Amino acid sequence: MKQNRIFNFNAGPAALPTPVLEEIRESFLNIAGSGMSVTEISHRSKIFDDIINEAIERTKRLLKLKDNFKVLFIQGGASLQFIMAPMNFLSDNKTADYINTGTWATKAIAQAEFLKKDINIAASSADKNFSYIPKQFNLGKNSAYLHITSNNTIKGTQWDKFPDTGGVPLIADMSSDIMSRVINAEKFGLIYAGAQKNIGPAGVCLAIVREDMLSEIPDNLPPMLNYSVYSDKKSLYNTPPCFGIYVIGLVLKWLEETIGGLEKMEEINRKKANLLYNLLDSGEFYKGTAQKDSRSKMNVTFRLPNEELEQKFVAQAMENNLGGLKGHRSVGGCRASIYNAATIESVETLASFMKEFETKNG
Ligand SMILES: *Cc1c(COP(=O)(O)O)cnc(C)c1O
Repeated sequence: MKQNRIFNFNAGPAALPTPVLEEIRESFLNIAGSGMSVTEISHRSKIFDDIINEAIERTKRLLKLKDNFKVLFIQGGASLQFIMAPMNFLSDNKTADYINTGTWATKAIAQAEFLKKDINIAASSADKNFSYIPKQFNLGKNSAYLHITSNNTIKGTQWDKFPDTGGVPLIADMSSDIMSRVINAEKFGLIYAGAQKNIGPAGVCLAIVREDMLSEIPDNLPPMLNYSVYSDKKSLYNTPPCFGIYVIGLVLKWLEETIGGLEKMEEINRKKANLLYNLLDSGEFYKGTAQKDSRSKMNVTFRLPNEELEQKFVAQAMENNLGGLKGHRSVGGCRASIYNAATIESVETLASFMKEFETKNG
């Protein structure tokens, strides 16, 4: 670890790989020999064209996307996608299905309802405080899509196998686990992910749209809210979030060239998660809040015997250079977000701190 840097378990914005931060620093004042920073060059320049193309191509290679997928960069975060998805893909004669697995899914549902669209809640885990991923679901009639949240950042649950919809397009909010594992993209009509958890800085959202979905889009949408416009203009209808796209490209380069692709990343992420879950399961002091078969490999949520100890835990962890371990303000408790950029070393350091804390306070 570099001096002055901590082990960062923030949920989002979250840690970026140190080599990526170093590369940003190295090239910041003079990108590609231009004598300018990436934040100072034209988004219509050859240099930026290369940057955005590279980010698109790396996305396609890493996720093994066929040519019928469009890779788009949109501002407004994942939250704008909550309303763009139904605006574009839910026509008035159809229903949209949603599976409610927590805070972010609830917000996505609220946005579709805001449009006064016809929504069916195909399944929900609200009955047990969103501590699990539902195993069964019921699609409504004439379904335009099924929307899921692949990883529930706040509740600490994650879809292991994606639901079989029998041809109904899946739409997934993958904000907190995009590029963390191998997926079969074919089933997805739309994948979106705010960059700031796993692939870049805040201010840009990656959206991956299957081409056939574009034909569903009504022609009376404002251009800034129309996926076709982003697709036709290669995300350059207006000035895109240039810096964010540049950093995404660097993170994906790191994923491909340093980590060695998503199979490797998945393996590392499984190791990291196992380290922490084994520890949670080894005694009575820490208690995982998600059901075992639904546990997230990205956000490990847990409680200590009481809130006083939880506060002490978070504070003492910080004194030991372990940051970001407080649970989301809506649920309390503790949470270790161990996205791609969290190294095995950082998770091992956290695990030994946790053992020590238990010995002293258990
Ligand atoms: C953080 C998060 C969001 C919200 O993202 P914004 O970019 O802040 O709009 C949505 N969904 C999930 C799963 C998240 O983790």
